[in-house]
Amino acid sequence: MRGIRPDAYYVSVLDIDPDVLVKRGYRAVLLDLDNTLQPRGASELSPEAIAWVQSLRDAGLGVALVSNSMRERAVRAAQALDAPLVRNAKKPFVRGYVRACAMLGVSCNQAVMIGDQSYTDVLGAHRVGMDAILVMPQSGSDPLHTHFLRMLDRRSVRGMRAIGSDS
Ligand SMILES: [Mg+2]
Repeated sequence: MRGIRPDAYYVSVLDIDPDVLVKRGYRAVLLDLDNTLQPRGASELSPEAIAWVQSLRDAGLGVALVSNSMRERAVRAAQALDAPLVRNAKKPFVRGYVRACAMLGVSCNQAVMIGDQSYTDVLGAHRVGMDAILVMPQSGSDPLHTHFLRMLDRRSVRGMRAIGSDS
């Protein structure tokens, strides 16, 4: 069981090269919204985040948002990205992952989840046999930010790889 341990980690989604994901064999990317694509509470996505999501599609990857948020904000983000949305996904329960993969026409092991929380984003992905990439929470004031930095200090992280940096 891989549990909460991510398959790769990055400081920001913007550091993730779509071509590397394609080379890894992924066909689709499921994206968390809050603190992954935008700081929690932000009213809209940055142009950089929108451009990065488009670069995923340009590389041939399917893209869906899988958010635990029920808010209208998640709907607006999905519209801005022109991407399907599973909101109120209740990660780490598996239903949202399965639905998103069905929307994109891929099986769960062909997709990768990208999110900022081990116990929701990563754990739920692994439950459906999907790889998961952990990114640092965008909101610097979020306690998870501190948690992430501490985690990077820990020995347990040494075995992880930043998949853009291997040769
Ligand atoms: Mg999040």
